[in-house]
Amino acid sequence: ASTTQVTKSSSKTKQDKTRLKEEYDRRQGDRDLLNMVVIGHVDAGKSTLMGHLLFQLGMVNKKAMHKYEQESKKVGKGSFAFAWVLDETEEERSRGVTMDIAQTKFETPKKAVTLLDAPGHKDFIPNMITGTAQADVGILVVNATRGEFETGFETGGQTREHALLARSLGVSQLIVAVNKMDTVKWSQDRYDEVTKKLGSFLKTAGYRDTDISFIPCSGLSGENLAKTVSEPQLSAWYRGNTLVEQIDRFKIVTRPLDKPLRLTIGDVFKGMGAGFCVTGRVGAGSVQTGDKVQVMPSGETATVKGIMMGELSAMCAFAGDHVTLTLTGIDITNVSLGSVVCDPSYPIHCATRIRARVVLFNLEIPVTKGFMVVFHYQSITEPAVIKRLVCQLNKSSGEVLKNRPKCLTKNTSAVIEMEFERPVCLELYKEFKDLGRFMLRYSGSTIAAGLVEEVRTNYTGLG
Ligand code: GDP
Repeated sequence: ASTTQVTKSSSKTKQDKTRLKEEYDRRQGDRDLLNMVVIGHVDAGKSTLMGHLLFQLGMVNKKAMHKYEQESKKVGKGSFAFAWVLDETEEERSRGVTMDIAQTKFETPKKAVTLLDAPGHKDFIPNMITGTAQADVGILVVNATRGEFETGFETGGQTREHALLARSLGVSQLIVAVNKMDTVKWSQDRYDEVTKKLGSFLKTAGYRDTDISFIPCSGLSGENLAKTVSEPQLSAWYRGNTLVEQIDRFKIVTRPLDKPLRLTIGDVFKGMGAGFCVTGRVGAGSVQTGDKVQVMPSGETATVKGIMMGELSAMCAFAGDHVTLTLTGIDITNVSLGSVVCDPSYPIHCATRIRARVVLFNLEIPVTKGFMVVFHYQSITEPAVIKRLVCQLNKSSGEVLKNRPKCLTKNTSAVIEMEFERPVCLELYKEFKDLGRFMLRYSGSTIAAGLVEEVRTNYTGLG
């Protein structure tokens, strides 16, 4: 597969680009910004681990921690206290499951991290897709307990699916936290066993050796998170980094600042004053107040009257930022969820039929022509029908194995064509790596990850 990106630069002037770059560098400050997702099987200890990490980094005060402790004792889940730092709502507390993506920011010596705590429960994978699509790097938490790691890792467990999903959604660097090491007496043999099994799997999932690392730890005792190892059974054989030191070693993620603007709309609401507001994450390029933009698929143009980042108003925003834009000069009926705010010189593709390269996961029934799936892309989900099985590919070389196969079975790779009921705004993988990926789900499970190769039928309903 060709991974070269076609250079399609934004239509901003040279002066504008220089000014924006200066502003971006100024905002970056002295720490690299990282969007991080935490994934893994349910009960692997994700919430406890991250909660304890935040506590050690001084992000949760003692008083709040004490309160969490009291509350968790009351409902008889004493050891959940750290998890509660992240699990905010009452409902989640009573269920003991992290349901939605709680955003938390923290700083290490070298990084400013936005944490997207992806849920581990099976029903919540669609949420996880949205969370991971925004992440640059990930922590995969696995439970070292004998039998438990195996449950998470085998068919039906979420360790594999999460790792595959994360990779296909663009998370290219991963730290594996080999958690609950206290339950195996800090055994080096057990650690080696887990890392060996996972290491070879992650390689087949497309991670490079240099982009994965393993950290033995305990989220509950707090061992090897932000402080050097004090547990003698661990320090007897482990001389490597702590989790925080390893987070500091994530490579800098370059954001597609020079690309044309793309912002997929996740919410539309009437604000105060003129116009209305849309929210979303800037997927590519940058936006300044006063900019003329085009909203697809309606094709209508608008003016950006204001930009909010969190509670603060800003003059500009960049790829990677979550923003609210106030738009004027456009009717609200021309904008909906899944619409994309674009650079008017280079609007996004709008397709009713696409050709894509897909990798099928562990699906139970074979995919045939006419198969109905749910297409997940950025913040949108759309029903789609598989219209054509073009060819089956060799998974590693990408070579064509068979033209026009009758069906596709699990763990295969293929080129397919699919059709949407409504036009969908999307990009080609070769032009926008991050915006050319999608997932397919069927009957509650994720069955494939894909890359958009070609728009077969353009939506031409525009004026
Ligand atoms: P999540 O579903 O992955 O977020 O897992 P939680 O953080 O909610 O933890 C699940 C259970 O494992 C809870 O009962 C925790 O107290 C327990 N747990 C989490 N981390 C550790 C650990 O490092 N050691 C031990 N022994 N138990 C842990």
